Amino acid sequence: MTRKFHFTKATRQSMTDYVRGKAFASAAAKEDTPRAPLVWAAQTHKGKVRPTNQDALVVSEAMQVYGVADGMGGHKGGETASAGCRDEVLRALEGEKPGLQALKSAIEAANVALFCQQEADESLSGMGTTLSLVWLSDDAAYLAHVGDSRVYCLRDNELQQMTDDHSLVAELVRKGAITAEQAEKHPLRNVITRAVGTETGIEVDLAVEERRAGDIWLVCSDGLHGLVSDEEMAKTLRENAPAKAAELLLQAALDAGGRDNISVVVLQDKEGAR
Ligand code: CA
Repeated sequence: MTRKFHFTKATRQSMTDYVRGKAFASAAAKEDTPRAPLVWAAQTHKGKVRPTNQDALVVSEAMQVYGVADGMGGHKGGETASAGCRDEVLRALEGEKPGLQALKSAIEAANVALFCQQEADESLSGMGTTLSLVWLSDDAAYLAHVGDSRVYCLRDNELQQMTDDHSLVAELVRKGAITAEQAEKHPLRNVITRAVGTETGIEVDLAVEERRAGDIWLVCSDGLHGLVSDEEMAKTLRENAPAKAAELLLQAALDAGGRDNISVVVLQDKEGAR
């Protein structure tokens, strides 16, 4: 279902809109535009154990960019990495047409910016962040992904994971060394093998999907998918509109212990759209 591409280019542009660190929801249908009506909702929460929320929601309704960044690296580094990555990527995408090349360039620019920042400030040493993004055009969804946050798509009532985790345990599962069940309880399940900001170069997974009426997209950090089963996520998305679904998924992760920061973005192309 997914196709992967590789490009190189560097772009930097001016600041854009974004919202971070709180719950919000919106119905974005506009009758006078050809774009399919999209309803979206996003929630983020520090959970029950961590002292701070180092996840950052990535939301630009104007550009139709939605996603999650999950920062790591000390009490200051994690937040700096996820928020900085979000800001750099949205800045770089401003004015660009949706596409994989622009996405890849934006994430490469964010990677360099974060890497330089931590080289220059010892208190940020070791910081990095996951990033999973969905960028919508009128007829396509462009995906970009680094780390162990995830993008899912519920299509024809089936929930499909659209991204591969860049984590130690996911690699062991892919090699057949451990089972998916063993991975869920593995002591090293939090170790990620790719992140934005940790090295001078970065490999970004990219994919493009047709955008269809009725599709529901979910982007989440491991604070959700590590605690709530795919079955429960699918059921919640099938039975609830985005705002309610995002709220229920967040609550499910909290009810399961909330051991990590939790971020959830839900997008739905409404039935009846072209
Ligand atoms: Ca996390």
